[in-house]
Amino acid sequence: MSEAEARPTNFIRQIIDEDLANGKHTSICTRFPPEPNGYLHIGHAKSICLNFGIAQDYQGQCNLRFDDTNPVKEDIEYVDSIKHDVEWLGFQWSGNIRYSSDYFDQLFNYAVELINKGLAYVDELTPEQIREYRGSLTSPGKNSPYRDRTVEENLALFEKMRNGEFAEGTACLRAKIDMASPFIVMRDPVIYRIKFADHHQTGSKWCIYPMYDFTHCISDALEGITHSLCTLEFQDNRRLYDWVLDNITIPAHPRQYEFSRLNLEYSIMSKRKLNLLVTEKVVEGWDDPRMPTISGLRRRGYTAASIREFCKRIGVTKQDNTVEMAALESCIRDDLNENAPRAMAVLDPVKVIIENFPQGEVEMVTMPNHPNKPEMGSRQVPFSREIYIDRADFREEANKQYKRLVLGKEVRLRNAYVIKADRVEKDEAGNITVLHCSYDPDTLSKDPADGRKVKGVIHWVSAEHALPVEIRLYDRLFSVANPGAAEDFLATINPESLVIKQGFVEPSLKNAEISKAYQFEREGYFCLDSRYTTAEKLVFNRTVGLRDTWAKMGE
Ligand code: ATP
Ligand code: MG
Repeated sequence: MSEAEARPTNFIRQIIDEDLANGKHTSICTRFPPEPNGYLHIGHAKSICLNFGIAQDYQGQCNLRFDDTNPVKEDIEYVDSIKHDVEWLGFQWSGNIRYSSDYFDQLFNYAVELINKGLAYVDELTPEQIREYRGSLTSPGKNSPYRDRTVEENLALFEKMRNGEFAEGTACLRAKIDMASPFIVMRDPVIYRIKFADHHQTGSKWCIYPMYDFTHCISDALEGITHSLCTLEFQDNRRLYDWVLDNITIPAHPRQYEFSRLNLEYSIMSKRKLNLLVTEKVVEGWDDPRMPTISGLRRRGYTAASIREFCKRIGVTKQDNTVEMAALESCIRDDLNENAPRAMAVLDPVKVIIENFPQGEVEMVTMPNHPNKPEMGSRQVPFSREIYIDRADFREEANKQYKRLVLGKEVRLRNAYVIKADRVEKDEAGNITVLHCSYDPDTLSKDPADGRKVKGVIHWVSAEHALPVEIRLYDRLFSVANPGAAEDFLATINPESLVIKQGFVEPSLKNAEISKAYQFEREGYFCLDSRYTTAEKLVFNRTVGLRDTWAKMGE
């Protein structure tokens, strides 16, 4: 894969170039701040490639920081999967892993500083009242009756909150900004709330937890982040980001820049909804190969390089848009077309008996591992009297367009002989059970001597030697292009998103490695499934077909 000879450029890199040129910064520090409440998806990959990519190209730093301020939704399982996914994508964070929870003591002290400056107060409105008082886009909010408490009163109440003397939802700490601000985030945002929940990092130490907007900017500043990159929905929150940093005693003031999030057709990028697919058992788990998660794509056979390439191709802008699934698929197809060794597989087998081939004889035929790359070597594949071919590769009658095997006609078996179909055997229902053929012994990997033209080439496996395998064919998980917009997105699941077949592969795949991709000739790219494969049973996932079928499907 031709990965980045030239650096990508985008508006964020232009800002960084200017900041370096005019001396605002001498080194660059970014961060990737996932909330550990789910597995990473392809949208996160965009953010990872942006943040870690900048650190790489500018010899800067990129921190991995878990934004862990909501213990109720978070879990150490998610922390571990996120670390693994970032490393698998080919990136390494600077220094130790960071957690927003590392800063809970400091965050508490900054909250006290705001109270002391008369810029924060303990509110005792109910959550419903707070919502009501907040106003709307067209009408201003109104002040809470608790807004003008004295500093002393607020300090004492905040201490009580911290000591667990208030029930959940009965008190919170709010920044005192402006209830009439045109930006709703500035209408006295809640900065601390009570939650009697154990935290995966801090255990039972805290029963009050800081809110995202208060935590994020302070964490960025404490870590010396220079450019804090987030998605467009946080545009308004930038005002609060700056307000907090302007009103506390902290030496750094990182700048936040927003870019558009990745949306992918026929897919969903919301962790909440992806979580629902898992808990409702619509999919097998976060790493189901139909999921747009990094772990799902990995299990399906996507390479890290193909995902990085995808992120490069889509670029980084401020325009909201939705990327076609075909764009993602073409990245893995380009990678595997170059790099995946070829192998023979029959997904829908029908038996062929080659009547004039000697019983019991096995002939080894040589097959190149890649048609255009001799350096990838070759392998020996057994050929014998009984083979399997694909049911779709035979017809009793066909017109000239059909380039495969037809009754009474000839076809070439890939890298082996020319065979002719003489007779079919059928069951009572009329299904073909056995195909009787004859072969021309003079045609091993060469054209027939007497000038007969044999156009078609089909794939095959030796029946005696082939390995029985399960093959999992995946299709789009949703049957509508924008499932996120559906009233009930679970009702838009594509019932055909997984089709399981029992087929055969050539014996060389006995030692295939998990998740190493092969091109099954004419079928697509496949890899061994990490969950279902056992010593006794090989299970292959179709990573992607050979050609783009999405355009067709949309019609
Ligand atoms: P959700 O939509 O599930 O709430 P999130 O944005 O809250 O996701 P985080 O774990 O907070 O998920 O995201 C970590 C980082 O990844 C953030 O900086 C966020 O902006 C970025 N990110 C999340 N989704 C996308 C996406 N679809 N495209 C680009 N970046 C994304
Ligand atoms: Mg978030």
